[in-house]
Amino acid sequence: MSRTATEQIVENSQLAGKTYGFDDGHNASRPVDHWFQDAREGRTLFLILYTQACRWSRCVGCNLPSQVSRAHVPYDRIMDQVDYVFDELLPGDECRKLRKIILSNNGSVLDEDTFSTTALLYFVAKMNRRCPSVAVLTLESRPEYIDEAELEVLARALREGATTTRLELAVGLEAFDERVRNDVFLKGLALPVLARTVAMAARHGFRIKAYFMLKPVPEMSEEEALRDVEQGLAYLDELARTHDAEINMHLNPTYVASGTPLAAAFAAGRFSPPLLETVRRAALASEGKRVSVFVGLNDEGLAVPGGSFLRPGDEALAAQLEQFNRTQDHACLR
Ligand code: SF4
Repeated sequence: MSRTATEQIVENSQLAGKTYGFDDGHNASRPVDHWFQDAREGRTLFLILYTQACRWSRCVGCNLPSQVSRAHVPYDRIMDQVDYVFDELLPGDECRKLRKIILSNNGSVLDEDTFSTTALLYFVAKMNRRCPSVAVLTLESRPEYIDEAELEVLARALREGATTTRLELAVGLEAFDERVRNDVFLKGLALPVLARTVAMAARHGFRIKAYFMLKPVPEMSEEEALRDVEQGLAYLDELARTHDAEINMHLNPTYVASGTPLAAAFAAGRFSPPLLETVRRAALASEGKRVSVFVGLNDEGLAVPGGSFLRPGDEALAAQLEQFNRTQDHACLR
């Protein structure tokens, strides 16, 4: 008998040594969080809807499931959230200015067991009506949940808005090294699965965003962390050239997320977040590659005290990285 989504979430969290709880008391008609950022495309909304948590739930440094629900969230409650976002949260002129929306549920938006397809199509319909300038819609998902049928429907719907909207599929790779990624970080992702997703996206003219973490696990030096990102950039560059695909690396310096084995390692002195200087060198390594880089500088308030990669005195370097995010001009990083 196949396990329910709730059973998978509970069992996988325990298996990975997670100690956090879930936000089961959240009002299911309201999103988890949202914020704005300036991306290359312009004004960007990052939106996290409240749904059932990630069924994988194992990745060692991740406590994103703690912000959502252990139990199933019905499609009409998710549609209430969509109404709230477009009718109340965003004033009309804010909607009209948006050039990009990143849609997340702290898990997989394309996993229909946790994120209703009806609600997803409803989101696209309201976005088409209210946000005429959106050029890119990013959907976060583990690759195994992405299939041709839903991409085809989404492609058609996204062509119908006033501005043609390109889909960007955002998938987590986290680390290039196979052992680090799957044996230590417990990502459960084989590179051929990612390559298949890139090929599928390229066939539809969609973009790929690959999430990487800088220094994702304990006992990794700054130089080893840098080398892993450099190898990841070389791999993504090769994929982009092979499939004529547009790929962005979203590079997240690792913060110490509470209730995870990484937090235990941090408390025991076996982990320290990466230096922002290493982040700078990692972003600089994308020069000459067919891969753009966006550096994530928001720990979403999920880090333990002292567990952020932003330290006193980092302000100027953080501003340089933000400028790089906006311009993709490597000169900002020298
Ligand atoms: S990183 Fe993504 S796939 Fe892994 S547990 Fe967190 S939400 Fe799930």
